[in-house]
Amino acid sequence: MIPVNQPLLDGNEKKYLLECIETGWISSEGPFVAQFEEKFAARVGRRHAIAVCNGTAALDAAVTALGIGPGDEVILPAFTIISCIAQIVRAGARPVLVDSDPITWNMDVQQLKARISQRTKAIMVVHIYGLPVEMDPVLELAERHGLKIVEDAAEVHGQTYKGRPCGSFGDISTFSFYPNKHITTGEGGMIVTDREDLAERCRSLRNLCFQPQKRFVHTDLGWNFRMTNLQAAVGLAQLERLDEFVARKRLMGRKYTELLSEIPGIQLPQTQVDYAENIYWVYGLVLKDAVPFDAGDAMRKLQAEGIGTRPFFWPMHEQPVFQKAGLFSGERYPVSERLARRGFYVPSGLALTDSQMQRVAEALALVMR
Ligand SMILES: *Cc1c(COP(=O)(O)O)cnc(C)c1O
Repeated sequence: MIPVNQPLLDGNEKKYLLECIETGWISSEGPFVAQFEEKFAARVGRRHAIAVCNGTAALDAAVTALGIGPGDEVILPAFTIISCIAQIVRAGARPVLVDSDPITWNMDVQQLKARISQRTKAIMVVHIYGLPVEMDPVLELAERHGLKIVEDAAEVHGQTYKGRPCGSFGDISTFSFYPNKHITTGEGGMIVTDREDLAERCRSLRNLCFQPQKRFVHTDLGWNFRMTNLQAAVGLAQLERLDEFVARKRLMGRKYTELLSEIPGIQLPQTQVDYAENIYWVYGLVLKDAVPFDAGDAMRKLQAEGIGTRPFFWPMHEQPVFQKAGLFSGERYPVSERLARRGFYVPSGLALTDSQMQRVAEALALVMR
């Protein structure tokens, strides 16, 4: 069986973890947390970084720090993970969706303008599967309408847009370090921002809104979103190799594209756009309309051949949890709907070998015959 993801942990991870154990520093108070934050901030060109326990927590804190609440609208892609929308809904704000581009799978920025209203407070940008969103039109709209930008960069560590790091755009950006991301801490996340006020608010939200003076007296509700020193130790070791990992992912993407380009019926990821080259967080495939089965069938057939896969995201407007709540009733986002039904991804982890990729290609050729 070729698993859909296997991380690469053969750098300084063991050494730094051993240091945690030998010194007894295992909690969030340990020194690796601040080091990881400092190095990560420098890497994305932000003034502040706040390490948290996962990427979803990073988004929850970012949305809360911006003061998004009842009466506000936030524009975000329909085709994304539930993490993006959860805190918007919980806070009583209204999520407003836009469909995807069929080639890049990112939010179609041409559709943004029509979704802006008097109540729009922010645009949440989500870079999907390793290719950045076209940022210039987003930045321009945000500027013109006085909107905040939350940038979810969980799938693009080390990626750039026109040479500028992803994670450096807008008011606040977030990352995840789940084991299938470009760098991992097992579970983990990071918030980055240039704004002192947002950084301070996120640090407070991460730590239960304890007050510096009267610790157990609270004027706000926060969470325990702290990252442990153990996680930061792994993160620091991973960050040292980010360039190498991005280069390897690009090589893997190019190799997959070469191996799969002759197989009929599948749309491959866009290799590059004029503002970036794909870093293939995952190597996604979309079944063309002529193929008589859907992604679920293809994934079952690949499973029988010993190939692990994962489905694409399921769009936000089709989530039962929101339909029950009366959200998005009657709304249609046809590209997202199609991607959800026709898209899946093949093994894409950093530990994947060339011969395993060869086997994936052979299995796909068999399934698509
Ligand atoms: C992985 C991911 C998240 C969530 O991160 P977790 O660490 O799993 O909570 C959020 N947004 C995007 C786009 C992701 O890919």
